Amino acid sequence: MSAINEALIRDVVAEVLGRLGARAGAGSSATAAKPDCGCSGKPGGIPAVRPVATGGVQGVFQDASQACAAAHEGYLQLQKKGLAARRKVEEIVKTMAEANAVEWGKIELEETKIGRLDHKIEKLQIIKLVPGVDWLRPDGRSGDHGITLEEYTPFGVVAAITPSTHSIPTLSGNIVNIVAAGNAVVFNPHPSAARCAALAVRAYNQAIERETGIANLVTIVEQPTMDSFKTICAHEAVRLLLVTGGPGVVKAAMQTGKRAICAGPGNPPVYVDDTACMKRAAKAIIQGGAYDNNLLCIGEKEVFALENVADKLMSEMEKHGALRLNSAQLEALTRAAFTFKPGEGGGCRHASVNKDFIGRDAAVLAKAAGLAAPAGTQLLFAETDASHPFVVEEQMMPFVPVVRVKNLEEGIRRSLEAEHGYKHTSIIHSHDVETMTAMGRALDTTLFIKNGPCMAGLGLGGEGYLSYSIATPTGEGVTNPRTFTRVRRCVMVDNLRIY
Ligand code: NAD
Repeated sequence: MSAINEALIRDVVAEVLGRLGARAGAGSSATAAKPDCGCSGKPGGIPAVRPVATGGVQGVFQDASQACAAAHEGYLQLQKKGLAARRKVEEIVKTMAEANAVEWGKIELEETKIGRLDHKIEKLQIIKLVPGVDWLRPDGRSGDHGITLEEYTPFGVVAAITPSTHSIPTLSGNIVNIVAAGNAVVFNPHPSAARCAALAVRAYNQAIERETGIANLVTIVEQPTMDSFKTICAHEAVRLLLVTGGPGVVKAAMQTGKRAICAGPGNPPVYVDDTACMKRAAKAIIQGGAYDNNLLCIGEKEVFALENVADKLMSEMEKHGALRLNSAQLEALTRAAFTFKPGEGGGCRHASVNKDFIGRDAAVLAKAAGLAAPAGTQLLFAETDASHPFVVEEQMMPFVPVVRVKNLEEGIRRSLEAEHGYKHTSIIHSHDVETMTAMGRALDTTLFIKNGPCMAGLGLGGEGYLSYSIATPTGEGVTNPRTFTRVRRCVMVDNLRIY
């Protein structure tokens, strides 16, 4: 046998094994059929296909390493299929998230037992507000020395870690952004929201493979653990991490040595001054603080009100359906909602949030406070001091503490303390532009919302686009397809400028 023939046979065998592997990874024979999607295949410039990992069914894997290898295979397939396939995936995810919003919202709530069904549904219906392929426009320069093009190109496989607070919505939005940029994605979801995440990944993969012929563009570890997190972060195919969660996972991701885009914790303060419309401020605080039982990282977590309007603000909150707790009721709720560990070395005792109360309905909190909430109550509130655990901790419950402050300086100082330097989100209700400017500059947060509820900062009632991953400590802001790209420059010297 000649050397040429040997090489040829090796290539054919590798190709056949690759295809067999892709089918095995894609699951049942029914889903393995690959009808022509009409997407233009692009030959040339694509690295040789490596044998694919097996063991997963429709993107759902037991083994983290195999999930990464399969996603890499999915990435190579996406490269071949071009922009048309990326657009198709964007359309599939946005359409399916909306079409399945009620069913998936129910399933997620049943699994996690946190949040509210109406908002779980809405969070899926609005995936269409996430940008897509059209977000990526190359930058061109034209001059005496020719033409230069800077293009936004994919990394390869992106690993995404998702929270329990919005599992399918974060996963869906992440897929749109990451795949629109030309990447594949492997998920390590929160263990307490992993079943619903796997269900969505199966459904998306089934549709993606049916419509584009690409298997395992989106993969997930079915039973995520700290070990699977470490395996994924260390895998050679994974080029970039996207982490959405609290301080622990942000720290862990930054210690991996891989580039990490971190959507970290928040504890958004709200400042209300005496130029604001109290009715509008009260309604916005209720709308934002009650959204999905205050699970949103951007949600109103504590209010600092100027002392000459604090009473008016609280009475407007009562008028619009929020339930006010007296000091005994607040004390009872605080004892139930936090556990207190003694401070070390004679220091202050430290409060940590009781997980049983995170994302629970206002009625559950009211019961713990010792009263029955009228039907339809969405939010509880009480007056507290600035050092209260409800102010200091990111509590994620439909309760908002209201603290009186003497002036703008105190309002800003208290807001800064409560925000802990997360640089996540802050909110103001004021009609004084100098006050708004002062707070905006001092708080230095990624989102700064004026005269509206927090969701306005993500395109729900305000201008702008949506992402459930707001990269705060690493600075990318509201993530979008460009966040997941490498900028590459292509230069034509002395030619192609047409004037
Ligand atoms: P969490 O930190 O408990 O979990 C988030 C993810 O990280 C999960 O997948 C979890 O399994 C994983 N994880 C946690 N600790 C880890 C560690 N040490 N090593 C590896 N993986 C780890 O958070 P949660 O309760 O699911 O979500 C709420 C938190 O996420 C809040 O702090 C909230 O502000 C934040 N959040 C931020 C954004 C944002 O866009 N910035 C969006 C949603 C939620």
